Amino acid sequence: MFIHSTLPYITNRYITISELYMKTTLFAVTLAMMSFSTNAQKANINNLPSQHSNSTNTTTTIHFTAEPISEAVFKRMQGKSYKANCTIPRSELRYIRVLHYGFDGKVKSGELVCHRDIAADLIEIFKELYKAHYPIERIQLIDDYNADDETSMLHNNTSCFNYRRVAGSKTLSYHSRGKAIDINPLYNPCVKRRKDGSMTVEPKAGRAYANRTKTFKYKIDHNDLAYQLFKMHGFTWGGDWRSLKDYQHFEKK
Ligand SMILES: [Zn+2]
Repeated sequence: MFIHSTLPYITNRYITISELYMKTTLFAVTLAMMSFSTNAQKANINNLPSQHSNSTNTTTTIHFTAEPISEAVFKRMQGKSYKANCTIPRSELRYIRVLHYGFDGKVKSGELVCHRDIAADLIEIFKELYKAHYPIERIQLIDDYNADDETSMLHNNTSCFNYRRVAGSKTLSYHSRGKAIDINPLYNPCVKRRKDGSMTVEPKAGRAYANRTKTFKYKIDHNDLAYQLFKMHGFTWGGDWRSLKDYQHFEKK
């Protein structure tokens, strides 16, 4: 904006030498300030700062993106989340980058692979969570955990695509299609209670968080923002299931 309003002065043939000097100086100073501002924003992003309010527009443009699976990303996935027998075409999957607030209150960069059908939903939801400073400990590709769900959950990793069966059955999980996501899974475990009173908790380390009548941090329930946003976007919450309660899990048909 400022450049455009300055240019007419420079091209005006009646302008005096001193005016031209002043305008040129002003123009140079403006350019220097713009350059400084851009560099400062870049530095902000690289350093993953705790204060982002002034550069939200820039960061959302750069970091909330959905792209086809690149060769580099596919190499990370092959034989792990993208197994040899995977029936989901690579072209249907998307690589998503988001920003989120960690448990330490600092901004972090996250990455997910999901189905293209829910890519726009996830971008919108994670933008809202970011704006609200919603804490998510980490969002890494499950391939960083060798696509082992228990290990990923133990590290409280939020993840989406993983070609696998539902534990203990032949049914393909919604994660296999990239249409399910697990949020802060350690604090929101998958809990199965049997008639004999016994209970299975996944991850095992999340047993302390199986009792949902307790109050604790990072708990997803009906008052939780993540629950509300996913619901608004047409997702089903595993915490609403009957036979099994999967408090970390949201899926969309
Ligand atoms: Zn899940």
